[in-house]
Amino acid sequence: MYCVVKLKQLVCMVVVLCLLAGAGLYLCRRMDAHMADTQAAEQTEAQAGPSDDSTASPAAEPQTAAPSASPEKKDFIKWVDFDVPYEAMNAALQYDIQSQQEAVKLNWVDLLAYLGAKYGGTFTKYKESDLAALVEKLKGGTTIAELTRDMKYFGYYQKAYGAVLNGFVGPYRIQKPIENSTETQWVDTYGLKVFSPIAKGYYYNDFDDFGTARDYGFKRKHLGHDLMAQVGTPVVAVESGIIEAVGWNQYGGWRIGIRSFDGQRYYYYAHLRKNMPYNASVVEGATVKAGDVIGYVGRTGYSATENVNNITQPHLHFGMQLIFDESQKEGNNEIWIDCYQITKLLLKNKSTVVKNEATKEYSRVFDFMEPALEPFFNSPTPTE
Ligand SMILES: [Zn+2]
Repeated sequence: MYCVVKLKQLVCMVVVLCLLAGAGLYLCRRMDAHMADTQAAEQTEAQAGPSDDSTASPAAEPQTAAPSASPEKKDFIKWVDFDVPYEAMNAALQYDIQSQQEAVKLNWVDLLAYLGAKYGGTFTKYKESDLAALVEKLKGGTTIAELTRDMKYFGYYQKAYGAVLNGFVGPYRIQKPIENSTETQWVDTYGLKVFSPIAKGYYYNDFDDFGTARDYGFKRKHLGHDLMAQVGTPVVAVESGIIEAVGWNQYGGWRIGIRSFDGQRYYYYAHLRKNMPYNASVVEGATVKAGDVIGYVGRTGYSATENVNNITQPHLHFGMQLIFDESQKEGNNEIWIDCYQITKLLLKNKSTVVKNEATKEYSRVFDFMEPALEPFFNSPTPTE
């Protein structure tokens, strides 16, 4: 009897110790992970937002900070599910571009925000005829403010989709080849001014892998979009901005983080090539033009040691984080969006690149300028 009691006590103690050790290990892992670099897109779980606690109708009740009596509590968007399909983005984009020549200018973000509010963010309900009907009303002279007066969440979608898309469309200048000549000329234009992250002439394949499981370090969700491509494929800056992070991250390997000029988008390019991950121009604080070559596809990452190839299949991890308030930049309140549909849209602009055989570097062939770049670069005079 005494022995049995003793044995029971022993078993209990062992179980308790195991539980404590397990919890301690888990906490250590989480601490390590966050201390290593909280900017790693592949690292954080999607902890905030309706995807965890109200999946049924995430967009019907969009999360913004509750208005509070405390002056320190700021009212900003806490979560965004970006589910707008390529077809809707492209149709809205075409309306926006075409309308620039017309009396009533259409804003594609407003068009998409109207649909977002109408569908409660669920674009499986999307019909092109809904967009056409909206455009018809706007062209007829009704304003978007009048049309959305009774839409409780239009303002939310306008801000949320705007945070994703505001840097995508506008006036810009680009070099184009002159026909039957080796010369180029600058052309002033308006339209999509963001580029595919993979250079022109290079193949990649992808699928919608946002939110799939990852377990290096600790169990978490995949908060980006993977583009499978050969090692050495030139990686291109999607949007212009300032390089905010360069270097090794145990999850992302050699990675680059670029912040848009409006501060709302943080682009994350990871698993770059071993030994020669970056274009020589890439340094922290540097300004990057949309379409510039910033690095090369590789398979680095999943190691605390620098310059280690622990990713099995070479790919570019492309992520986009939304920042409405700087408190969301790092930690448990990060907002990463699904870039699969956006990546399809970006295929409209591929940057043509050329290799320098001496340095093994690639660089863009056709230069680019947009108004936000003017403080950093001399603006060329258009020749057309
Ligand atoms: Zn990835």
